[in-house]
Amino acid sequence: MSTLPATAIVREVGLRDGLQSIQTILPTAQKIEWIQQAYAAGQREIEVGSFVPPKLMPQLADTWDVLAFAKTLPGLTASVLIPNLKGAERALEGDADLMVLPLSASHAHSLANLRKTPDEVVQELARIRAARDASGKKTLIEGGVGTAFGCTLQGEVKVDEVLRLMQALLDAGADRVSLADTVGYADPHSVSVLVEKALRIAGNKLCCGHFHDTRGLALANAYATLSLGIQRFDASLAGIGGCPHAPGASGNAATEDLAFMLEASGVKTGIDIPKLLALRQQVAGWLTGEQTNGTLWRAGLPKNFKGALHG
Ligand SMILES: [Zn+2]
Repeated sequence: MSTLPATAIVREVGLRDGLQSIQTILPTAQKIEWIQQAYAAGQREIEVGSFVPPKLMPQLADTWDVLAFAKTLPGLTASVLIPNLKGAERALEGDADLMVLPLSASHAHSLANLRKTPDEVVQELARIRAARDASGKKTLIEGGVGTAFGCTLQGEVKVDEVLRLMQALLDAGADRVSLADTVGYADPHSVSVLVEKALRIAGNKLCCGHFHDTRGLALANAYATLSLGIQRFDASLAGIGGCPHAPGASGNAATEDLAFMLEASGVKTGIDIPKLLALRQQVAGWLTGEQTNGTLWRAGLPKNFKGALHG
């Protein structure tokens, strides 16, 4: 039996990955309330938005203001998604702790979603690294390798190509890399195979697993990744989100379900799950008419639960 890590981080991406793929535009005040409550529940890493042109994504047009608020919370790692150098310049200006540049290992998905080939994204990362170094800022750069387990447009994505691009991102100056099942094609076995190979390339620079629950396997995939020693996972409160290029997709792993799985398995997250469930109810109330996911909220914590803060 493998030993699980003692601790893990659940990085909240609901405010970015979740909100970008639903109709409702959440007012800035509610996003700030969400961040405040997530912080109060013990979350310390939050992706607050994306520096994409507001015309393309009006849901995230207030990322600058949301980031400014997040920066006031001590010890919070506030990250943003950036599509290109221009977005990176905003992230540096706003003092983001981390900027995530997504790369799609599927060439078809990359062209449809980012209008660039994967190798052009690698070149962009090198420019972003140069800009970061010139700025003197401490903002970390994460290269997020998406559609790493398959793609709705292209079908198969070869493991060798995923690994080649991950290596290329590191060579271009990424501080760290992550793997994303953007469209929900992964299963625990394919995850184990890829993560094991990726660890040989990236070592502890492989920092995060990002799983969508399209086919109900997000938690199983996170567990397979955890078993190999990865200690950070992206998740969306209430499992909101999806992907415009993944028909029928449900959102990310639900934050509350993932935190529960980790704590129940003895992996400390620092998250107060009842507080998180209360926040889930509040956010779901703001998103009436939108699909929410996850299961813990239906039945609540089991009576024998011995997670953090409740032992
Ligand atoms: Zn995603």
